[in-house]
Amino acid sequence: MSRTRVILRSGKDQSLHRYHPWVFSGAIKKIDGPVAEGDLVDVYDNKGHFLATGHYQPGSIAVRILAFEPVDPDETFWRRRLEEAYLLRERLGLTDSDETTVYRLVFGEGDRLPGLIIDHYGGALVMQFHSVGMYLLRDTFAALLQELYDGRLTTIYDKSEGTLPHKAPVTPRNGWLLGKEKGAEVTEHGHRFLVNWVEGQKTGFFVDQRENRQVVGSFAGGRQVLNLFGYTGGFSVYALAGGATLVHTVDSSVQAVKMSRTNVELNFGKKAPHKGIVADAFEWLDRAETEYDMIILDPPAFAKHHNVLHNALQGYKRLNEKAFRKIRSGGILATFSCSQVVSREQFRQSVFVAAANTGRHVRILQQLTQPADHPISLFHPEGEYLKGLIMRVD
Ligand code: SAH
Repeated sequence: MSRTRVILRSGKDQSLHRYHPWVFSGAIKKIDGPVAEGDLVDVYDNKGHFLATGHYQPGSIAVRILAFEPVDPDETFWRRRLEEAYLLRERLGLTDSDETTVYRLVFGEGDRLPGLIIDHYGGALVMQFHSVGMYLLRDTFAALLQELYDGRLTTIYDKSEGTLPHKAPVTPRNGWLLGKEKGAEVTEHGHRFLVNWVEGQKTGFFVDQRENRQVVGSFAGGRQVLNLFGYTGGFSVYALAGGATLVHTVDSSVQAVKMSRTNVELNFGKKAPHKGIVADAFEWLDRAETEYDMIILDPPAFAKHHNVLHNALQGYKRLNEKAFRKIRSGGILATFSCSQVVSREQFRQSVFVAAANTGRHVRILQQLTQPADHPISLFHPEGEYLKGLIMRVD
């Protein structure tokens, strides 16, 4: 098959020899034919050697690599990639569990499916496309996924409005490729949650915090807990299960706070010591009268691009400093960052400065990351984004 060739500048082929799955526009010497966003292209070095095949897109990342050997990405190719993703989750014990029915089936580059995210919610799949090349294949994916789950799927929902690159020549609308369900009740480590993928944030739930919620819950016994940026109450449910005597879920979204109350009730009934509060997290730390001996900070990504990195680091410092000032002696602070551009070291440095400014004695008890259904290709360190610290504050 003859495809348009993307030819790299001399010396710009090194990252591809190390299997890095992105070609940046600055590495390109020329493109030897017509090319549209989403097209398959072959990447060659300056001396005419084949390097890889991928999806073309205009912008800083110009090619997202699908394979480092000559391939024809037909149905068989995509079937195999999806099967590999499924088998990993099966091995992790996620696909056949009653205890946990929510997991990430496909995590982009980590599953050699760049530009594609798929989450599983108790028999429903929610897909998010981040590249036009993948988006154009959505019907193929929907068919292959039904085959893969062998009649066990109730719903496939495409939620790509707003996730494709700006200016992409397609106008995706959120909608169903199978079924009509708007949400489902799922279980995570035996805890029940209502997920609404149509109205909820991202694909409906923050699947990546599953293991961290479990860890945080194990520290909550006997404590008064403040769950800031609590969304639909994920950490709150685990804290109550872990024996917290009081939990406040704070989020700026009215919808999220309502759902947090519903989820707590679903697990512990109406009498649970829980309060959902609609408020700005920073302001709540300034004005809350309750004394907390555990605070959870799980804010949205403060930086989406490198050019706002400085502001993001300031944001983490300011937020954590307020929490250090607020928390009782002997308290536990669980703090997270999901900004991909903020490194583990930079995040820890921000937390360090925050602690130093308050004069509190702080020890790290545990360091947290993303779970195994969000695998990080060793060749694509950019896939690592979630980091967390559990600290004792005296
Ligand atoms: N911890 C959650 C996920 C948090 S996502 C879980 O485990 O499911 C981040 C949340 O922060 C979103 O729900 C968003 O509505 C909320 N948010 C964003 N800015 C905020 C602010 N300034 N104050 C309070 N909540 C905020």
